[in-house]
Amino acid sequence: MKPNIKDSSFKELAAFLEEHKQPAYRAKQIRQWLFQKRATAFDEMTNLSGAMRRQLADNFAISRLQTLRRAESSDGTVKFLFGLGDGASIESVLIPEVHRLTLCISTQAGCGFGCAFCATAVLGLKRNLTAGEIVDQVLESSRTLSGNRRITHVVLMGMGEPLANYAQTSTALETITDGEWGIGISPRRVTLSTVGLVPQIEKLMEQTRVNLAISLHAPTNELRGELMPVNRKYSLEQLLDCCRKLPIPRRKRITFEYVLLGGVNDSEQQARQLARLLRGIPSKVNVIPFNPHPGSGFSRPGPQQIERFENVLREEGVQINVRRPRGDDIQAACGQLQGEEAGRLRRGGVAAEAI
Ligand code: SAH
Repeated sequence: MKPNIKDSSFKELAAFLEEHKQPAYRAKQIRQWLFQKRATAFDEMTNLSGAMRRQLADNFAISRLQTLRRAESSDGTVKFLFGLGDGASIESVLIPEVHRLTLCISTQAGCGFGCAFCATAVLGLKRNLTAGEIVDQVLESSRTLSGNRRITHVVLMGMGEPLANYAQTSTALETITDGEWGIGISPRRVTLSTVGLVPQIEKLMEQTRVNLAISLHAPTNELRGELMPVNRKYSLEQLLDCCRKLPIPRRKRITFEYVLLGGVNDSEQQARQLARLLRGIPSKVNVIPFNPHPGSGFSRPGPQQIERFENVLREEGVQINVRRPRGDDIQAACGQLQGEEAGRLRRGGVAAEAI
């Protein structure tokens, strides 16, 4: 099988062209065809010579995701089930709001981090997505938009851990954010969410300008270790210490996600502990009421408990985003993806409301 040309970075494509005695500006033209004009065949690239189009076709394929299913919620949220070349599948969720259209994308099929409350964890890690498969979620869901509607924001909050697939994710981020030959969504409008892999967070913040979201979910090592096994590798102290040292530009904040689990991490005392932990870090907290899924063993706290938790955070001076589930009726909310796709990937998690 020929490699997918959308998997190569700008540098890799430029190196291929140099090897084949082609001028460097061709890399830009080819990428404009792929990512701006969404070409699906080399023959569409009419500003390249026939010989060059043949040369590309001899060496590369232009692979696409297969749209297996598209479900629209009564609130306008759209969930896509995409099939990959090897039979695996992933999901993306399009979330319309008044002034923005956000796409939530996956970076792995399944996930290997084993968070106790997350449905994707049940699947284990199937495999990393390639850069082309990550970018294609944006291209394919854009195709379904009418008129001049465009995706304005991208969040890497679907299935998988983006920083455990660092190389492919960063090539994909380059393509999504580049204005000259890429999709052209500003890095200020792209958010990557991670379980908290410290060395990769440092690298990401050095190499890109995308927004950072960290899944925190507990204010003590003991509880976080139970909920998120990754905490045994990178403790809260290590994680927050890293956050304190990150070069965060003025007026920018790190988002901390906190899934509220009834009777587990939702007490007023825990809200106070959380506020204390975040002191000195330019931060905001996304409080995400748990989305139940069968067999999880966790529940969503009642509305009063959620409100109490949020009020304590506010009193403590924490900036919070209150997110309500979107796409509940099509299983597009957090941890609900792929619910009905039994026999394939059985369930996946997407933080449709964690943005
Ligand atoms: N691996 C990355 C990104 C994927 S999950 C990360 O963990 O950050 C995106 C967010 O959805 C994470 O904060 C995750 O903890 C949360 N999530 C997973 N399952 C959920 C559920 N059932 N209800 C609410 N949030 C959930």
